[in-house]
Amino acid sequence: MTVRRDLALLDPDFRPHAERLIARFELVGFPFHVFETYRSNQRQAQLYAKGRSTPGPKVTRVIPGHSAHNHGMAIDLVPKVEGRWTWDNGLSKDRMKVERPGVWEMWREVAAIWRADFFEELAWGGQFGYRPPQLLGWDPWHFELRGWRRRIR
Ligand SMILES: [Zn+2]
Repeated sequence: MTVRRDLALLDPDFRPHAERLIARFELVGFPFHVFETYRSNQRQAQLYAKGRSTPGPKVTRVIPGHSAHNHGMAIDLVPKVEGRWTWDNGLSKDRMKVERPGVWEMWREVAAIWRADFFEELAWGGQFGYRPPQLLGWDPWHFELRGWRRRIR
């Protein structure tokens, strides 16, 4: 199950926004790297099976063909710390504030940047399922083109 990271696989309507986002995070020194761009329906099916027909926790509620990734309309940007992908979405805000103040601050700033500069064009997974007092929704690594379903080629 191959993870694709090539920006050339993104839809031409979405790619410039993704590149602007990456450049913006580079500018402020966040350790984000492209984890995934386009995702095949086959990989989506394998992810969907996790926690259902194959072992492990559930990782998605989206069936093949229904993720923006399946159409090159989404990108996952994940922090790499000391060479390792770090999946830390800050769901337990208070604990993180104490134990990982740097991570907490970074996500707060990501939210501010998205709101100020990308809100019109991009939907952010940090808003998906967001409920205060959580810091973030369940998919803060994920950015997708707003209205992508209407723009599928
Ligand atoms: Zn994603």
